[in-house]
Amino acid sequence: VMVGDRAYVEYKSKHYVDTAQFNTAIFERAIQDDKEDFFVGWWHTHPGIGFIFSPRDIETQLFYQGVNPFAIALVFDHCQKESKSYYLGIAGIRLKNPDRGMFATYSNSIELKYEHPKEKMIKNVDKVVKEINKNMKDVLSEIKYIDEILRKKYLAQLQRNFGLIMVLKRDIKITDDEIEAENEDYYLYEWDPDIDKKIYRIPKFREKIEKELKKCEENLSELNVEKNDPEIKKKKAKYKKKLNDMLAKPNEWYTKIMNDFTKRIDKISPLFDYLDTDERKIIEHFEERIRNIVR
Ligand SMILES: [Zn+2]
Repeated sequence: VMVGDRAYVEYKSKHYVDTAQFNTAIFERAIQDDKEDFFVGWWHTHPGIGFIFSPRDIETQLFYQGVNPFAIALVFDHCQKESKSYYLGIAGIRLKNPDRGMFATYSNSIELKYEHPKEKMIKNVDKVVKEINKNMKDVLSEIKYIDEILRKKYLAQLQRNFGLIMVLKRDIKITDDEIEAENEDYYLYEWDPDIDKKIYRIPKFREKIEKELKKCEENLSELNVEKNDPEIKKKKAKYKKKLNDMLAKPNEWYTKIMNDFTKRIDKISPLFDYLDTDERKIIEHFEERIRNIVR
């Protein structure tokens, strides 16, 4: 598990939430895919600090060992690289007595088995580090592009001009309890027929589409002929074309944004494993937003 961000060692409180979510996600996926995935631990860096556990680290490790008694913390300190006991600069740390809670002691010499012998591991690691250093800057600028341009500009514009999503107005609570609704004037009772207009900001484009749909519906019912009348079929085809034409522009926009996003992801994916939590969140957040856009 990678938590924390590129510049800081500190394990911020929001990352605990990430970790808890991650644990749930692994568990759910394991059930869904009938896999045996489970939590093995976490890792973070101690640049120049060495392999000691801060109270915060103990707290975190207690959480992991609570989920899995064998959970391990991997700590990386570049200053320890090439040292005798930690030739990759990585130590395995585990609490000896987690039942003591915050007073637990730990061992920082848990034996780590690597997939290759020492020399080959060092060579492989150097190769990977070189590759990361060479490409990370470009990858980070792609991520910045996704956040600053694709999300904040293009996606926002798509929603503004052709949005179909109703955005919840702030500070309004919905309740189905009449008494509560009467007492608190910012509560809204659920059975209000105009509830949508009150709690959502309805995008202009959606209003336009809904109006058009209503008009089509009314025209069709006014025809007053048999259901299978050719006149109905003709009209229906006409209305369908009109609505499709209205949706052509946003569809075109959507495709353009998606293509651009895919292009960026192709560049990011070789280094995806080396992104920090915040960087991954940017990608996740964008995917979530685009998924919500109704085509
Ligand atoms: Zn630490």
